[in-house]
Amino acid sequence: MAEVQTVQGAIDEADLGIVLAHEHVRFRDEAVAEEFPSRYDEQLELDAALLHVRAAAAHGVRTIVDPTAMFGGRDVRFMKRVADETGVGIVACTGIYSYDYLPHYFENRDIDTMADHFVEDIERGCQGTDIRAAFLKCAADAAGVTENVEKIHRACARASLQTGASIMAHSMPAVATGPRQVDIFEEEGVELARVQIAHCGDTDDLSYIEGLIDRGVYVGLDRYGLEMFLPIEKRNATAAELLRRGHASQLMISQDFCASIDWFPPEAAETFEASGGIRNWSMTLVFEEVVPALREMGVMDDASFNEIFVENPRRWLTA
Ligand SMILES: [Zn+2]
Repeated sequence: MAEVQTVQGAIDEADLGIVLAHEHVRFRDEAVAEEFPSRYDEQLELDAALLHVRAAAAHGVRTIVDPTAMFGGRDVRFMKRVADETGVGIVACTGIYSYDYLPHYFENRDIDTMADHFVEDIERGCQGTDIRAAFLKCAADAAGVTENVEKIHRACARASLQTGASIMAHSMPAVATGPRQVDIFEEEGVELARVQIAHCGDTDDLSYIEGLIDRGVYVGLDRYGLEMFLPIEKRNATAAELLRRGHASQLMISQDFCASIDWFPPEAAETFEASGGIRNWSMTLVFEEVVPALREMGVMDDASFNEIFVENPRRWLTA
């Protein structure tokens, strides 16, 4: 039995239980939050995190993988508070969530030095605590795989090789970042079964998604509720066809929900709901609407549910 690091310490892989593979208990810019703290209400953020994590727990979720990295305001102490108060395990990451920008600090240091920072988070602990990161996070978005993005990917790959930790990469199917991201991991020698390409469900282009699956990575159908990228019905049709084609063992289903997020003024949430940009976005949407719909379509049974929500995250995290 392998162990998995959570914010409450190492647990047996068998105790991960039902996992949401991609949710954020809080998402905010750490620089803005540090410089202008009066603009944030930590109690409100905590209340929101507890509310949504408890709602997920009511659907049987025992573990949440939270890929909040640098620039998403990663705060492992906050995550531990949420885990302690809800009883739901939280798996934290290390890495850098940037679509291109790098601080001069990392711009002027090489890939291996960046990787050393990640290794320390995985082997010793994050942010001055003994809470260890369990996986690595990087991102590519509309700008594509820029020089800085590639540097972060290579550093994640090297830290993965040194520690055995798995990798999650935010991707943008609209500009087809996935194949290039996988190329980089492969060039660095990472076993592709340790890699999860997030947000593949933002497209219904089956050949694009299957192209990634064929290379051996996990693909995230992990933004249910974010209608601005793809509506639920289209996400479900894609998931159903992938299940029909026998890909259950490489799919992650989640919501990329943020219990709180500072990207927009608070009133924007209502505007997004009203305009249909988001719909029922939460930490429970997949259990309330997606799993029932896939069961009704006859493409999901107890075995494939278990595969997607228990076995895949466990295998990805532990190999
Ligand atoms: Zn995310």
